[in-house]
Formats: sequence, C-alpha cells, structure tokens
Amino acid sequence: YWVRILAALEKKINRQSYETWLKPTRFSHLEGKKLFVRIPSADFQHVGDRYADLIQEAIENLELDVEAVVLITPEQDPRAPKVREDGGFAPLPSHSQNAPQQSRLASPSAPAAPGPEQSRFDWNTASQLNPRYQFDAFVVGSGNQFAMAAAQAVAERPSKAYNPLFLYGGVGMGKTHLMHAIGHDVKRRMPHASISYVSGEKFMNEMVDSVRYQKMTSFRDRFRNVDVLLIDDIQFMAGKERTQEEFFHTFNTLHESMKQIVIASDRPPKELPDFEDRLRSRFEWGLIADIQPPDLETKVAILQKKAENEQTQLPTDVALFIASNVRTNVRELEGALVRLIAWCSMHGVEITLAVAQQCLKQFIDTQVRKITIEAIQRTVAEQFGMRVSELKQKNNSRQIVVPRQIAMYLAKQLTEASLPEIGRQFGGKHHTTVMHSISKIDEQRRADKDLNRTINKLMETLS
Ligand code: ADP
Ligand code: MG
Repeated sequence: YWVRILAALEKKINRQSYETWLKPTRFSHLEGKKLFVRIPSADFQHVGDRYADLIQEAIENLELDVEAVVLITPEQDPRAPKVREDGGFAPLPSHSQNAPQQSRLASPSAPAAPGPEQSRFDWNTASQLNPRYQFDAFVVGSGNQFAMAAAQAVAERPSKAYNPLFLYGGVGMGKTHLMHAIGHDVKRRMPHASISYVSGEKFMNEMVDSVRYQKMTSFRDRFRNVDVLLIDDIQFMAGKERTQEEFFHTFNTLHESMKQIVIASDRPPKELPDFEDRLRSRFEWGLIADIQPPDLETKVAILQKKAENEQTQLPTDVALFIASNVRTNVRELEGALVRLIAWCSMHGVEITLAVAQQCLKQFIDTQVRKITIEAIQRTVAEQFGMRVSELKQKNNSRQIVVPRQIAMYLAKQLTEASLPEIGRQFGGKHHTTVMHSISKIDEQRRADKDLNRTINKLMETLS
C-alpha cells in the first residue's frame, strides 16, 4: 500500500522534498484499516500533517481500503529491524509485510506470537504515546519547572522517587505531554519495562466492556501487571463509583508491588468532587505537582521551539505578538502558530508581523479576554516571589497570609466569582474567611500607601 501511495506522491511533490521526507519512510504493517508507516525519527512526524491531503487523495485515487495512516518511529515499530549507523534502514525481513495482523490487537499483556525478529513488544505503549511529547520538546518556565523536575525524577527512578506522582493544571498546560515524556524516557532507559497510558475515561469504558463480556481477568492483568501506569484526566472518574473501586484496587496492587503510578488531573486531589476519600488520600501519598500557565517569555520560547520543529523562521516580534495576544493555553498558542504557518505557505508570503496581525485577527478577537482567579494567583505569586500552591496552602505565616488576602481581594474585584467559589480556589477556605480577608485589604489599602501601590500595579498587570 505505502509503496503505491509513495509512487503517487512522488509525481506531485518536488524532488527535494520527496527525497528528504518521503523516500526514507517504509511500510511497517497494517492493523485493520490502519496503515502503519515507519519513519526514521520523530523529526519526520510532520510529514503526516504536511502531506495529509495528498496522502488522502492518493488513497482515494488508488481505492485503497485504508482509513488512517499512522507514522511510527523505529522504537515504536514492532517489526523494526535495527537502524543502520548511517541512519538508513536495513532491509526488512520479507515476511514481515504479510505477517498476520490480528495478534497486534490481542491483549498487550499476552505475549502474543512474536515473530522471530522481535522479542516481547509493548504495543500498547507505542500506539498510545505521542512521539512528539518528549522531555526535550518541553519548554521549561516558572509555571512548570517543578512539574517537569518531578516528572524527570520519576522517569529516572520509577517507583523510587515519588509514587504516585500527581500532576495537575488547567487545559493545555502540558500534563499529557509530561506523562508521555515519562513513558518515552522510561522506555529508553528500560526497554523491557511495560508501560500503560490510559485516560480515566478509557479506563472506565474498558472496564465496562470487560464486565459486560466477562473479561475482567484480562482487564485486571492489563493494568495491574505493568511497571508504569500513566493515567490521564482522572477527574473523569468523578462520581463513577464502580470505576473508582476498580482503580482503587489497581492502585493498591501497583503501589504494593513498587510499580510507578502517574496521575494527571485538572485539579488537586482535595478538590476532586465525588471521589472516594480513600482514593483522594492515596493520591497524596507521593508528590503533588501543579502546572501553572506559562508566562510571556515561556510562551515565546514555546512558539520558537514549535516553529523550529516545523522548520519555519519565526521572527521574534511575531512570536511576541502571538504570545501576548493568545490566552494562556499552550494548545491555543500552537493553534495560532499552525494557522499562521499554513496561511503563509498558502499565500506564498513570509511570516512578518503585519501578516500575523492580519491572519490572526479573527483568532484573537474571538478570544474573550477575561481575568481568571488562576491569572490573579499567578500574578500575585510572581509579585511576591512565591509559588501559587503556597497561596492555597493552610500556612498562616504573615509572608503568605498577606499575598493570599490580596489575591482574594483582587479575585473579588476583578472576577464574577462568588465568595465560596473564591474560597474553593484558594484551597478550600470558608467563605467567611474570604470575606474577612477582602475587608481587611480594603481597609488597609486606604491607610498603607505601599500596599495601595502594589495593588494598583497588580490590577494594571492583570488587565
Ligand atoms: P494538557 O494535557 O495539560 O491539557 P497537553 O499536554 O495536551 O495539555 O498540551 C497541549 C499542547 O501544548 C501539546 O501540544 C503540548 O505539546 C504543548 N505544550 C504544553 N506545554 C508545553 C511546554 N511547556 N513546552 C512545549 N509544548 C508544550
Ligand atoms: Mg491532557
């Protein structure tokens, strides 16, 4: 299949691009209607996006029964022969092109029929980890350096550094990226380690299916016999009693046998609603690391890194323009960049500030620029040189109490949040505490010039 697709592409793409990006790719195998193509390295991953339309067109013209093309690196390829020193591929064993496919779909823990050239392969991991989500590709800034360091420590010493590692943060802050990076890194250090990545939602769906088809044993095997379990978006399990019960036992089994558990969530354990206490408390056994939205410099660095990966020149003024106009979500930041690159290549123009302003106008206008409590916390924490998590802790030392009161005061002034909501976002403070804090700052602000200046400055930064 892939050879025929390549032949079709060769006629449509300029020679240089074809030689560089497409020629080094190889058919790996078919899995149902999924065509797996091996690329020499993760650098080739963008081939999929760049030539998506042409590949689709070729598939249609050739009337191939293929629904998706999946690019995989040699590390991920169950049939991968060793890559030669010069970076080229050694010839594929001839039978690997028509080996039976269904064994790939078998339960990953079952050592299903390995061919002679392959040892036990953890197909599960490879198909679920995004090859782009590596530590190298993660830009570190003040908001995420703690989480990054924790993730690296866990990858270096699974089950010995922190177990579980609980990562939390808002949408698009890089939680999934860090989890995958842990998976890749462990795999690199310990090629035989079995790693499972699953979202809370998938965990639940698979469990429900297993109950229905009486396959609980294989379901349990699958999650309880791994060296590293990466479980994403755990908040999805809120209110799902049966799922939590099952996960509770999975957690215990893994923890007792010194296997690493990494959990990602959109909020800290304490704030997970409708969760069993015994689970919440287990989530706090290891290390809890939050990821805060990136500051401007980090956003610029992320954009530059992404542009570099796309082999695109991104002038600094353009990066600054995007970073300061797109909200804090990194995913949206990427979206803006992708859009800009696509626009420029379509119109055959260079990326300049003027072009960026024109092309992203709509994108930026549609973003309602609202001040959030998160933003307030981040700004206040930065101003006082502390961590956002400290604003939410129970610590009552003066250095922490005053910034916390200021942040609550700003939350009341600048957002629509109710007092209980503000209390919730500050680590579960009672609304009377919030009210007390606000009136205290309100009062002091009139008397204390320095305090007043600080608050004005914070308000300015925020709006
Ligand atoms: P989350 O799981 O927290 O919602 P993701 O991990 O899916 O967020 O991240 C969204 C996108 O932003 C991904 O493409 C990811 O690679 C990128 N991203 C987030 N943070 C960073 C960072 N610090 N450096 C580089 N890319 C990042
Ligand atoms: Mg995620």
